[in-house]
Amino acid sequence: MQYLGLENKVVLVTGGNRGIGAAIVSLLKELGSQVAYTYRSDRNLDEDSLAIQADVTDSTAMAQAVEEVEQKLGPIYGVVANAGITRDNFFPKLTINDWDAVIETNLKGIYNTLSPVIPKMYERREGSVVCISSISGERGNIGQTNYAAAKAGVIGLTKSLALEAARYGVRANAVAPGFIETQMTNAMPDKVKEKIIAEIPFRRFGKPHEVAWAVAFLLSPVASSFVTGTVLQVNGGHNT
Ligand code: NAD
Repeated sequence: MQYLGLENKVVLVTGGNRGIGAAIVSLLKELGSQVAYTYRSDRNLDEDSLAIQADVTDSTAMAQAVEEVEQKLGPIYGVVANAGITRDNFFPKLTINDWDAVIETNLKGIYNTLSPVIPKMYERREGSVVCISSISGERGNIGQTNYAAAKAGVIGLTKSLALEAARYGVRANAVAPGFIETQMTNAMPDKVKEKIIAEIPFRRFGKPHEVAWAVAFLLSPVASSFVTGTVLQVNGGHNT
């Protein structure tokens, strides 16, 4: 039996307390990783992982979180930059606060998450980074100019990092989920959901664990050792 090679690897997941992040935490634990996750305010009662309250928009808090993970669990092998928010509105109604909040969390939050870890990975000549983008960042979406801009930025960041990091044996990839059943999409009106489902060849939203498996593949030093700078779509054929 060949495993994914993630056993005992230390992996940090941002926004791991619910939704896609929680599914990633849970799968990585099943695969034998030592998992730490950050959350903003609402911790869940998972006692098997190291849970750290840290807002991704706060660079000091993220640097401290990385130090705490390394002190308590050891050198970080993998980072999953998952934390994200939406503040949707049609462009004329989109406030500067909505713009800033989404760019700060979804794009700068990834910089804040990665900047304390990447130099350590380069030194150790080992590491795998997975950034969560979105189908909206690939093809745009009505009401999401702020979100799509941030998520397209995540793809640019990931591809550039992959090019820089390769010489250090470090990989960086993105996952672009389509519509996934979480609290983020629960907020959508039923009519909008029905319209979207009609566009998805699988005729359903995805489940968080279906994204988690894509993340596990990209983290794996066994399954994806020659994969870097890619964007793996998990969308039921939506963007095909
Ligand atoms: P969710 O709202 O259920 O969870 C978001 C997570 O991010 C939560 O754990 C929350 O605590 C955390 N978070 C938000 N702001 C934070 C901050 N400032 N600091 C720290 N943590 C913060 O959403 P989800 O659907 O699980 O989304 C997870 C990721 O997947 C996000 O990046 C989202 O943009 C992306 N995504 C989701 C979908 C979808 O359909 N659900 C589709 C494409 C991409």
